[in-house]
Amino acid sequence: MENLLLVIWFFIVGSVIGSFLNVCIFRIPEGKSVIFPVYSFCPKCEKKILWRDNIPLLSFFLLRGKCRFCREKISARYPLVEFLSGAVTAVNFYIFGYSFYFLHITIFFYFLILLSFIDIEKGTLPIRISIIGVVWGILSGVFGRILSTYEILLGGILGGVIIIAVGLFGKLVFRKESMGGGDVLLAMMIGFFLGYKDVFISIWLAFLISFIFIIGYIIKTRKLRGRIKFGPFLSLGAFVCVFFGERLLSWYFRLL
Ligand SMILES: [Zn+2]
Repeated sequence: MENLLLVIWFFIVGSVIGSFLNVCIFRIPEGKSVIFPVYSFCPKCEKKILWRDNIPLLSFFLLRGKCRFCREKISARYPLVEFLSGAVTAVNFYIFGYSFYFLHITIFFYFLILLSFIDIEKGTLPIRISIIGVVWGILSGVFGRILSTYEILLGGILGGVIIIAVGLFGKLVFRKESMGGGDVLLAMMIGFFLGYKDVFISIWLAFLISFIFIIGYIIKTRKLRGRIKFGPFLSLGAFVCVFFGERLLSWYFRLL
């Protein structure tokens, strides 16, 4: 019972952090400060959003997804990011308990959520955020003794090298730019946080998931246009790897 209350508490804390991530997703690509102004404004009528309309998840449903003043639709991304952040925080606490690993992996997921949603909305992975993620991943991994320094550094390098290699391969075969610098940095960040074994599994999963997605997309629309945003798939791969990586690996080796 006490544990259940703690899990709920961490869900609430996570959704409040998700609310801050929403501010970052909106403001960082526009080059605005994430701290000032402290209050958020409706992008249409520019009225200040009241504190009681700023409660994670709840406010969106109470307002039925519309601005209180001008009835402009609020993006479903707001409750989605708040829910995801709350859910990963609660689930991580449930699985990993009070440990440094809980902090390490939860902050890692916040970076993934932040970068993925910016990629989905703006089609870009801001270098600034990835670099902060890279530095954070190395420091947290080394000082928290998550893995050996060698495994951490090798992870980051391996992640970057694989994506650069895939990008060059794509350029040669399809004569199209497939991977950007943002994807390389994101893969490096995943490597620094998870180490060389898991970055390998994460990228492998990212390709598998994106392949299934692309096939589904082609079947549905009968065409394929534009550049595929790979950031969200890399994040999804890392996410699946953290929770199911070992199980997937042992299952895979049993098949061989
Ligand atoms: Zn408004």
